[in-house]
Amino acid sequence: MFIMTTSHALYPGSFDGVTFGHLDIVRRAARHYGLVTVAVAENSGKRSPTFSVPERVEMLSHCLAEMGNVEVRSFPGLTVEFAASIGADVILRGLRAVSDFEFEFQMAMMNENLAPDITTLFMVPSPQFSFVSSSLVKEIARYGGDVSHFVPANVAAAIAERMGPGK
Ligand code: ADP
Repeated sequence: MFIMTTSHALYPGSFDGVTFGHLDIVRRAARHYGLVTVAVAENSGKRSPTFSVPERVEMLSHCLAEMGNVEVRSFPGLTVEFAASIGADVILRGLRAVSDFEFEFQMAMMNENLAPDITTLFMVPSPQFSFVSSSLVKEIARYGGDVSHFVPANVAAAIAERMGPGK
């Protein structure tokens, strides 16, 4: 029998253009945890993001509005400190391919060191989303390509407005 020993998971990221890959991970997580906090990292390493933190929070909130046990936040500073402050003892990250592994592994080890009580868990998405990334989607949109298979309509519209052809 599977016994759920934790009920609150944090899914942090930059979410600079929410994709169906991100949403797939949230949906899976919401089946296993009483509460999933999806949180935009305000100082993620990414330089010059396309969308502001409030825009990314709004985009995620719109996409996840129907999910009762999912909340959307943003946070400054260290992910483990934010996790502890909201009472989450699991940090979820998505793994698409081997290429994600090295960075994710390093970060998980660092977080384990900083906060041994918080566990990092990795989830893989459905195969049809395993190659989707925000940056690739934006690259396609920049040249007028159809991104409707990779991102929700509100995100596709926001990307087209911000960086479609001629922008
Ligand atoms: P980061 O947090 O590294 O800046 P993102 O905001 O794009 O990157 O993604 C947040 C988390 O979701 C990361 O763990 C990332 O690996 C994962 N992720 C991104 N795209 C997908 C996808 N298509 N399928 C599964 N996981 C994904």
